[in-house]
Amino acid sequence: MSDKKQQKVQEFEYKAEMKQLLNLIVHSLYTHPEIFLRELISNASDALNKIHFDQLTENKAEGEGEELKITITLDEKERTFIIEDNGTGMSEDELIANLGTVAKSGTLGFLQALKEQQPDKSGIDANLIGQFGVGFYSVFMVTDEVTVETKTEDSQGCRWCSSGEGTYTIETIDREKRGTKISFTLKEDAKEFAEAFRVENIIRKYSNFVDFPIYLDNKKV
Ligand code: ADP
Ligand code: MG
Repeated sequence: MSDKKQQKVQEFEYKAEMKQLLNLIVHSLYTHPEIFLRELISNASDALNKIHFDQLTENKAEGEGEELKITITLDEKERTFIIEDNGTGMSEDELIANLGTVAKSGTLGFLQALKEQQPDKSGIDANLIGQFGVGFYSVFMVTDEVTVETKTEDSQGCRWCSSGEGTYTIETIDREKRGTKISFTLKEDAKEFAEAFRVENIIRKYSNFVDFPIYLDNKKV
């Protein structure tokens, strides 16, 4: 990063109902926390589908340029998880709109469903999260802090960070590649998701529908 261009980190506050939603997601106990992976893969797949569609409608020859793909990189020792795609990416405004807010209907619907579910001692069914257009936030089941680095074809790169506790930050970054990289350190009780064997099984179980190749630690799943 060049130090001539002083990069400014801007802090944003979540809306009240978002805070309530995130607070619940962060502090609840879940059955099937592995759903976070299905949600992140499905978002990556959506972003890749959009690029694929654009390429077709602009009559660009298929296969031109880079392979459209999802890449997952794990570090068991450091408990880190990285998922990257070369889909549409997000501009700064899109980041704020897509990850800073959710449709009110989604938030309220989710909160209502939670109330109705009467969680037993084993916890809330994580599937609920994906059903209300708040799938991305399921990542807070397995981590305390998330970083999203992203870039569209014609905007500057941006980094979004949040611990799901009321605020998030955004800053511009030097990023060359179009697409989105989501990285985080797994909580101690979620460290199983840094194991390649475990992650591969989850991908097979939930993500057979994905039309793009998924590479796990450089190996195609
Ligand atoms: P949904 O997928 O139901 O819209 P999510 O909470 O899963 O809800 O995601 C919110 C939004 O964030 C998405 O609609 C999309 O606009 C944006 N988004 C999330 N992940 C990505 C990604 N990998 N690439 C581009 N946009 C993304
Ligand atoms: Mg989604």
